[in-house]
Amino acid sequence: MREILHIQVGQCGNQIGRKFWEVISEEHGVDAQGFYRGDSEQQLERISVYYNEASTGRYVPRAVLVDLEPGTMDAVRASDYGTLFRPDNFVYGQSGAGNNWAKGHYTEGAELVDAVMDVVRKECESCECLQGFQVTHSLGGGTGSGLGTLLISKIREEYPDRMMCTYSVMPSPKVSDTVVEPYNATLSIHQLVENADEVFCIDNEALYDICQRTLKLTNPSYADLNKLVSGVMSGITCSLRFPGQLNSDLRKLAVNLIPFPRLHFFSVSLAPLTATASTAYRHLSIADLTQQMFDAKNQFVACDPRQGRYLTAAAYFRGSRISTKDVDEQMSMVQSKNSAYFVEWIPHNIKSSVCGVPPKGLDMSCVFVGNTTAVQEIFKRVGEQFSAMFRRKAFLHWYTGEGMDPMEFTEAESNMNDLVSEYQQYEQAVAEDDDEDVEQEFGAYRAGEEDRTAIESSLMG
Ligand code: GDP
Repeated sequence: MREILHIQVGQCGNQIGRKFWEVISEEHGVDAQGFYRGDSEQQLERISVYYNEASTGRYVPRAVLVDLEPGTMDAVRASDYGTLFRPDNFVYGQSGAGNNWAKGHYTEGAELVDAVMDVVRKECESCECLQGFQVTHSLGGGTGSGLGTLLISKIREEYPDRMMCTYSVMPSPKVSDTVVEPYNATLSIHQLVENADEVFCIDNEALYDICQRTLKLTNPSYADLNKLVSGVMSGITCSLRFPGQLNSDLRKLAVNLIPFPRLHFFSVSLAPLTATASTAYRHLSIADLTQQMFDAKNQFVACDPRQGRYLTAAAYFRGSRISTKDVDEQMSMVQSKNSAYFVEWIPHNIKSSVCGVPPKGLDMSCVFVGNTTAVQEIFKRVGEQFSAMFRRKAFLHWYTGEGMDPMEFTEAESNMNDLVSEYQQYEQAVAEDDDEDVEQEFGAYRAGEEDRTAIESSLMG
């Protein structure tokens, strides 16, 4: 079996992680104590991708829970599913990171990281054939972002040939009023470009808009946002957890979706999204789902896919009565109608699959993962907020006070700007580019690689 080890770090990471485990446990028929109460072979066939089976017959999440302060983890422990997790896998400190990436990455976090790695190692050793890791965290705070990316780089060092996949929550001033979030996020993105294989971007700005506009919630809470997050996480991992063909492990997913190594930041969307009051009046078809998943209003990244182009994409339909033929027809129709939004130099760049198990409470649903150049909008948004402060060195003393060199800020900023330029370059690339253009692009790419080797060695140092 190809196991995945899940790691949740910081307040946000633990809150979305907790919801993820609740949702998938229910889908696999695992109750809050870890006992199987399900009724179908499908639930158990690949359950060991995410769960260890204890000798007592309990299914135990292969999860490590990490934080620099005890509060959120106490809340996880006290929740309905709190006893599901292995008590030894809660690793936490007492100090907190105070929304400071430097504390998470270099000082407080660095003191805790060895204890976390011990638990990680123990879990990995008991795997038959580990496929990789998935991390849930936010990029705007101090722990999930600073310690989260420190852990990712330690794991990369120790398990260089395993996949590293993250669910990274991007900050938005609509949801949080901490001014240094763009600093924390930019420093994290700098790390994720180099050390993660697949990043599912979850943008609080978009989640907030969906809650307000589509779900008609006037004052959305984190619980509301996290319900959306667990919806996409369950959809994305569906092909890893249930028998099927498309992208059935993290590496296959990467091979299909990532044409260039640095461009591994995915936007995701979910359909259906309906306000509770309207649910009873809803009638859904494959055509509706297909239309919704391309809609800007359903995107979990605050960007309009029509402002960019898809390099690649994957659609995961779920439902017991969905015919593959219908899905294929709808998908090819959308693609031919909107061909301008898909780069023509990657043929067949959109894949789809059907999983027979729908999410709880729905007949059918769909999750869409796109590698679109429009994702650059997040990096531009965060980058502008970063530069406005960094130009005046505002708040920098909190970071240098923890021993950070301002040079790391400059490098992070320019790495993120490079990423934006790379997205722009591929957005504009057309099939008819003559060889000279391609040669030039390749030259620029090579030069970029050299810069990055320098950046990487400075990160290692
Ligand atoms: P940490 O504990 O130091 O990692 O800090 P947080 O995880 O609280 O990071 C703050 C950022 O995460 C801000 O951008 C918050 O808006 C966001 N955040 C915190 N908790 C949640 C949550 O439960 N859900 C979502 N979607 N975002 C959260």
